[in-house]
Amino acid sequence: MGNELDRRTFLTAIGGAAAAGSALAQPAAKPPVIGIQIGSISFLDEGTEKVLDILQEKAAVNTLFLATFTYGNGIASRQLKGHPLPDHGVQAYDDSFHGGNYATPHAQYYKNTVITDTKAPDHGNLDILEKVIPVAKKRGVKTYTWSEDVWSASVKNIEKIQERDLYGRNARTVCFNNPDHHNFLMGLMEDFTRSYDLDGIMWGSERYGAFGNAVESVHNRNGNDPSRVTCFCDFCKQKAKTRGINVERALEGFRNLETWVRACRGGTRPPDGYYVTLWRLLFKYPELLAWETLWNDSVHETYEAIYKLVKGIKPEMQVGWHVWHAHSFSPFFRAQTDLQEISKYSDYLKMTVYNNLGGTRMETYITSNHQTMYGDMPIADALQFEYRIMNYRERGYEELPYTGLSPDYVLRETKRCVEGVKGTKTQIWPGIDVDISNMNVEYSQCSPPVIREVTKAAFNGAGKGLVISRKYSEMKLANLAAVGDALRELKVV
Ligand SMILES: [Zn+2]
Repeated sequence: MGNELDRRTFLTAIGGAAAAGSALAQPAAKPPVIGIQIGSISFLDEGTEKVLDILQEKAAVNTLFLATFTYGNGIASRQLKGHPLPDHGVQAYDDSFHGGNYATPHAQYYKNTVITDTKAPDHGNLDILEKVIPVAKKRGVKTYTWSEDVWSASVKNIEKIQERDLYGRNARTVCFNNPDHHNFLMGLMEDFTRSYDLDGIMWGSERYGAFGNAVESVHNRNGNDPSRVTCFCDFCKQKAKTRGINVERALEGFRNLETWVRACRGGTRPPDGYYVTLWRLLFKYPELLAWETLWNDSVHETYEAIYKLVKGIKPEMQVGWHVWHAHSFSPFFRAQTDLQEISKYSDYLKMTVYNNLGGTRMETYITSNHQTMYGDMPIADALQFEYRIMNYRERGYEELPYTGLSPDYVLRETKRCVEGVKGTKTQIWPGIDVDISNMNVEYSQCSPPVIREVTKAAFNGAGKGLVISRKYSEMKLANLAAVGDALRELKVV
């Protein structure tokens, strides 16, 4: 008996020591990524140390997504004109915004491309990465470059990388199958990775292929010009041929789709109905969807190429993507955005779940679709159909722009995306809406109570972090503080 007791005591003691040992051996749980998108002008306007003080104190930010390459003032520059300036920063709009590379383009990385002249002239010779990274690092704040697929017609040689539309005209957008564009992007990412002490990179493209652009829009209630859809350049045609796609049939299909879209928008109900005749076109020209798949695959191949390049140089860098809002509206784009597949070349995904602006965008989306494929039903019914297939419970058509989407939308989308990457290493960091300028000042605006709920939804949906969006220079401090309040309530910071 005594021996038995001793033995049990001994085993218990061993077990206890082993448990204590393993607890000690485990690294401390990493804090979640609390990221914020920010442009260079905010550091210049307000001072690097002061901006970091505000971000850390108010919102527990530990990661900067610094707008480093873009020609768009959505993520760079100050507040957009026509929208109220927030309660910090220079109280004036930025009339001299140009865009480009806010770091320093090092010439050796751009030898295989005609796109060599991209230095942003906005702040002279300033290199925003050189300026911000050391200061952030001292505070334990990480820096990611945030680059987007937004170009300007002013870039030298841009016409050589632009997409071509259905009639061979140059588009404003650039082609992922164009070697000069591809090599530029690879050079840019290599330049960032080798030239700076970064913690990660994010890149994003907010676009559809030709089919999506012909039939629907997230940004334009009246849809897009179906003759301007892309891309039909020689590189894309060549790639299509290697896939066995009949290029002439594809072009004919898109011209027929153009005719169909124009007739629908003209208010002429096809005798067999809008929805049925769209499907008739798809059956007759399967090349329409093959061309769309080609376009989306080309974006995903770009993700993969950037991922392999950066991880090959610095495996510890975190590489991921801003996935644009269309995944929340368009069943077609959601179908094309297979998260299991994308997870193979993503450390993280910033899934856009902007709830406030989402109301306006949902209203815009369903309005544009109601003029094409959903023309057979009342618009309120089309919206309910949309909610059912996308799994939302949100407000009616008339109210939406004035209410936005709810925190429940953020919860549902986060859960879906987390489920989508299940079994992979990829983390979901929802991109949340803090004061993204709405289309009309009368439409819904962000407020602290809702932002607190949205922040909680991102973590209750099992997100592993979040990215406060769209840029610090449009955010009100009270709304930024609401993110921090929720994070402290959740005890995740
Ligand atoms: Zn092309």
